[in-house]
Parts: sequence; structure tokens; C-alpha cells
Amino acid sequence: MSAQFQIDQGSAASDREQRHAAQTVDVCQSGSLKNREFRWRESVAQVAYYSGALNLLGWISQRYELQSDGRSWRPAIHRVASPKFLILCYPRVGTEGIPYYCTLPTPQFEMQMKFLREHFRVVSLGELCEELMNPGSPGNAVAVTFDDGYSDLYTYALPVLRKYEIPATVYLTADCIESGEVAWYDKIFLALQVAPAGPLDIPIRGAGRIELGSPQQRIDVGSQLVSVLRQTPALERNRFCADFERQVSLPAGKLAGRMLTWKQIDEMRSAGIFFGSHTLSHPALSQLAAEDVERELRESKSLLESRLGEPVLDFAYPFGKPQDCGPIAEAVAARCGYRSAVTTTWGINRPGSNLHNLRRVQLGDERVPAKFGLQIQKTFLMPSEPAVLPRTPNSPIMNRGRADSGTLVRG
Ligand SMILES: [Zn+2]
Repeated sequence: MSAQFQIDQGSAASDREQRHAAQTVDVCQSGSLKNREFRWRESVAQVAYYSGALNLLGWISQRYELQSDGRSWRPAIHRVASPKFLILCYPRVGTEGIPYYCTLPTPQFEMQMKFLREHFRVVSLGELCEELMNPGSPGNAVAVTFDDGYSDLYTYALPVLRKYEIPATVYLTADCIESGEVAWYDKIFLALQVAPAGPLDIPIRGAGRIELGSPQQRIDVGSQLVSVLRQTPALERNRFCADFERQVSLPAGKLAGRMLTWKQIDEMRSAGIFFGSHTLSHPALSQLAAEDVERELRESKSLLESRLGEPVLDFAYPFGKPQDCGPIAEAVAARCGYRSAVTTTWGINRPGSNLHNLRRVQLGDERVPAKFGLQIQKTFLMPSEPAVLPRTPNSPIMNRGRADSGTLVRG
């Protein structure tokens, strides 16, 4: 059977997310036509940067935004009176080992943080929430967040964050930090990396037997498989993961030391880094019973607070797309006492945004400062409608063809 599961690649995915995914693929296709197009776009961004057009775009995005009424191909430009807030989301910094689905070289991350510090107002997530609730700030601002809590953040990101005084927030998967074990989806990616080449049985609907080949093809298979499992009821998903681990034994050496330790977290806090919750075990909340959603949010908050000795006020939904969050998570986050909750729905936030349904943007793939800046300014120009979380219970069976089925596991 083909390594591609029979998944709708996201007919409902937003154009922006599809373009972003396409750019991600471009980076992996050196020498290809698409890669040349990617470099051409970078060149255009550099011209915009060095000609001063990027500064002009920044001036415009402070005062205006684009809106489409759906009837005309040409969006209208509207004046805006309030500031806009962009939350950047990074899964990791580093290139080796878990997580296999994402790499970000440290120099590329440093370039982005340097550019942020030099060209934007950088605030902590707490300051961003305060300004969302009490507008009147001096203008657009950017906050930096990380998900999951990989140890690479201590090794590679912390020195950069210190150097440029970036008050980032890290959302911790609490049980993974407590146990030192990586989350279930990382074990799937690792299993696919270490399994011998050839056929492998994947006993889940839509898969069957697949042929494992190159490391990149294995990552693609992992992304597809995790996308399916995100939309699989928790009991069925747990059963599959247990069976899968029995089929492919995981090398302990590749699993060890991948998550932050409490000692590292303490040192990061001393350096001005903030910490929030990312649940206990990183499930797709939409696939849990109501009491389990409550437990994931409440007990992770309680565990982190007991370890950190201070209130944990901010939360990130695992995977973060509406179909991952489900219909009740937003209310549960508010009830558990979280000040804010972030999704991975692309977009900006502004005063009046729902603090338990904030949008974020992933730009880690941008390799050139000018293009990184251009993407941020373009995002500031986009309308800031709230992310729509589903309001009706999900079907207990697998849902395919939803908004981001088949996209990478990030978040
Ligand atoms: Zn995550």
C-alpha cells in the first residue's frame, strides 16, 4: 500500500496554512523549481527590506487591515484604531533527534529573535494579555511561545533568548516533564525512524501495510499517522500506541534526556522565561470524555504550580486546531482558572479577542530576516476574526477530511 494514507489533504484548510505548508516542503526540495520560487520570494522580501518598503508596510499595518467581503477578489483596506498582537509559536530549536517532525537550526532561530528585537515591540504573554484587556498600548506587539518543553529549549534557545532579552513562554506537557518521557506522538515518529526498511503493519483504519523508505518518507508517514490518531478516540489511540510499541522496540538512548528537567526550568525562570500548561499527556482534547478534559487541564495546572511554586495562568491546546480542541475545552480552561489559552489557528489578536481562544503563527521556517519580517507585517495586515472552535460534540469515530488532516503534527 502507498505510504500516503487515504486522507483528504485539507480542502477546508485556509489558504495561508496551505501556503505555509508548501513553503515548508519547498525547503526540503533543494534544486527544485519550487525551491527556486521560494528563493525568488526571499529575494523580493530583501528588496522590500533594503528599499524601505518593509518599514512602510509596518507603518500601514499599524493603522490599517485588509478585509474581503467574499464578493470581490480585491480586499478592502480598513483603518483600525486598536493595536494588534501576534503570538509566535515554536515547537523546538535544534536539528537532532526527537522531535523528528520539526527542525530549526539555532542560527536561524537567533536571526529571527535578533530581527524581532530590532524591529518590533516584544512583550511577554502576560503583558500581551494585559494589553488585550486594557487597550491603550503604544502599538502592535509580538510575543514568543514554545510548546511541549523539549530540552533543546534549554540548550539552544535559552542563550539566544537571554542575549536578545525575549520574555518567552514555554507550555509544558506536565506528565512528560515529571516522568522525563516524550509524548505518544514522538514515540510514533521514533518507531518509524528505527523500524527496518520494508513493510510495516499499521493496524488502523485507512493505513494497513506500508513500505518504509527514506528518513523523510518516514517522517511523512508519521505526520499522516499522527494526524489520523489526533482524530481517534483516546482509548482506541492508546491501544494502537501500545500495540505499535510492541511491534517496534524503541532505543532507550534516543528517548533519554529529550524533555526539560525541573532544574533546567528553574534556571530558565531565573532568566526571565515564563511557563504555562500544555495538559498532562498531550491528547487531542476533542477525543476525550468531558471529565478527562477537565482532568488534563486542572491536574496539569496543579502539578506545575506545585513544582514552580507560583500560579500557572496560561494554557496551550495540544495540536491546537479547532477540531483538536473540541467544543468544551475553552469553557474548561476558563473554569480551571487559566488567564489565557492559545490555539495554533493562524492569525493575530486584538483588544476584544477571546483570551481563551488566541491565535498563533509559526514562522520558524523563514531563513531570511527580510522574509521573516515581511511575513509578520503581512499577518498584521490580515483581519483578526476569532478562531472558531466547534460548538457541537465531535463524532466518536474518526473524522477525515477536516481542516488540517494530513498537515504536520506541530503544536
Ligand atoms: Zn504540543
